[in-house]
Amino acid sequence: MKLYDFKKLSQKLDFLNFPEVTESRFEIVRKDFSEEEKKGNITFKEDGIYLKINGVEHKGYMYIKVADVEQYDFPKFHISNCQTIIQQQNQNRFHGHYYWSNSNIVDVQQRGTSKIYKDVILSLCNYCRNAARITDYKNTQGFFDLLDIQDDEPINDAELDMFGYVKDWQEISKKFRIENEFTCNNCSIKIENKFDQRFIQVHHRNGNKLINKRENLQCLCTLCHSNIDERHTVNFQKKRSVHEIATFVEKYKDELINIGNPYVTKYLKK
Ligand SMILES: [Zn+2]
Ligand SMILES: [Zn+2]
Ligand SMILES: [Zn+2]
Repeated sequence: MKLYDFKKLSQKLDFLNFPEVTESRFEIVRKDFSEEEKKGNITFKEDGIYLKINGVEHKGYMYIKVADVEQYDFPKFHISNCQTIIQQQNQNRFHGHYYWSNSNIVDVQQRGTSKIYKDVILSLCNYCRNAARITDYKNTQGFFDLLDIQDDEPINDAELDMFGYVKDWQEISKKFRIENEFTCNNCSIKIENKFDQRFIQVHHRNGNKLINKRENLQCLCTLCHSNIDERHTVNFQKKRSVHEIATFVEKYKDELINIGNPYVTKYLKK
């Protein structure tokens, strides 16, 4: 076994010296594609375009931010180097025009004006869809819903271990949630719908996200998780988490009330 991975080590040191990314993993919404590609942070995979930030890969898609919406309607989003993308590259309309995102909604600007269409759901490009044989979603909302959220607690960059151990987190978290049958240890809600299983999250009891032994882990629904202590309440005030809790409560309101979730009544009064 290799004891040291110098590449990861240097990434970590780079980060300590030059903290260029300050967003938490949950808030990454938009990055200039060409810039990231130049830095070697982009990887094309079958199911999406991955952006690496401080050693952790995030799945996303690319889209054009400024478009002639009035004439051509909203642009499509892409998950591969498809025919359209290659054409745009050949016509020098790629660099500086495309953005990477992993959000369910984006903002698009009308070309030639300052008009902004906010919170738009884009449709998947047909070439990309056919190439990857995508059948389970057709727009950015669907793409987002299928992201097996990466994951659970927002992890600060400072908490990444020097050898990138947190990279295994997604897998650990998934296994643990399967073991626990996607059931919240606190209010005991069980989520059967596979698209909603992201609402069940894995919490570190002692707060140390590098200790991933079973005794230190706990399965919690996102509502219980956000209420477990003050630090979590603050962490969960990030835009994406707030949206996620709202979606969860909206959809599972009746069940949460029925099983006596300790937070749902107060939440609904807000
Ligand atoms: Zn495409
Ligand atoms: Zn719960
Ligand atoms: Zn937690």
